[in-house]
Amino acid sequence: MAGLDRIGDSAAPSEAGARVAVVTGAGRGIGRAVAVMLAAEGVDVVAVDLGLEGAEETAALVRSQGRRALALKADVALDSDVEALFAAVREEFGRLDILVNNAGITRDGLLTKLTEHEWDEVVDVNLKSVFLCCRHAVALLRESGAGRIVSLSSATGQMGNVGQVNYAAAKAGVIGVTKTLAKELARWNITVNAVAPGFIETALTAAVPEKVRLMLLESVPLRRAGSPDDVANAVCFLASDGAGYVTGQVLSVNGGMYV
Ligand code: NAP
Repeated sequence: MAGLDRIGDSAAPSEAGARVAVVTGAGRGIGRAVAVMLAAEGVDVVAVDLGLEGAEETAALVRSQGRRALALKADVALDSDVEALFAAVREEFGRLDILVNNAGITRDGLLTKLTEHEWDEVVDVNLKSVFLCCRHAVALLRESGAGRIVSLSSATGQMGNVGQVNYAAAKAGVIGVTKTLAKELARWNITVNAVAPGFIETALTAAVPEKVRLMLLESVPLRRAGSPDDVANAVCFLASDGAGYVTGQVLSVNGGMYV
């Protein structure tokens, strides 16, 4: 498959019946935690990221759980990359059961300061990517007979947040896409759900100033920030066989900060 850098182990034998997941933004943070947790549950994983190095580190963690893994470098906001990504999945694994739309970015600023470019970038990576990945994944997910799509929204998309008009719009949009595709794809037994994290300790939130961080934590009834594993647990539940009658839902993982 031309077009995408990849590091894989296609020589490894495919275990009949093993489910296959694509996790975007899997090079670190929540995406990595999801990839590793899925592997622990017996799922083979395609780790997709802008940076091949992070994706390959995640793929190595997946392999250490005894699962097959493929690391792919792709920009999920680009239609051509996404098309090549799912072509590679078909070529290497021949199936897809789970799509986790996790890649995301922030470019914060108050309304009057935010540039058009910062709006477009955030909407493209957080929202357009979900549309593109679902569109290119759907043929494979239909063949699975029990496909699962889980997309990362955010408490910001549910409640708004000062300085994040672009991110809030994109993450609220993810909820709209989720509810619509739950209805459109149900005929193929594909479930479509979203997870909406609150304040989670990752590189994305590492730059939040200490004052704001303390203020945010005060708004969390459970009195702590969440971990990537807290979010991965919710994603893995929605991706599991046991969640087969759950679709069109938003599962909040926020310590009670928005109820
Ligand atoms: P993170 O640590 O910043 O990780 C995001 C990953 O996505 C990075 O590896 C990044 O790659 C990758 N990525 C960015 N743009 C991409 C693109 N265009 N194509 C492919 N990969 C791309 O973020 P996180 O905290 O784990 O967040 C994961 C998801 O949860 C995001 O959708 C985020 O909005 C959502 N979320 C997070 C929180 C939180 O508190 N952390 C709260 C609510 C929702 P590079 O490193 O190469 O740039």
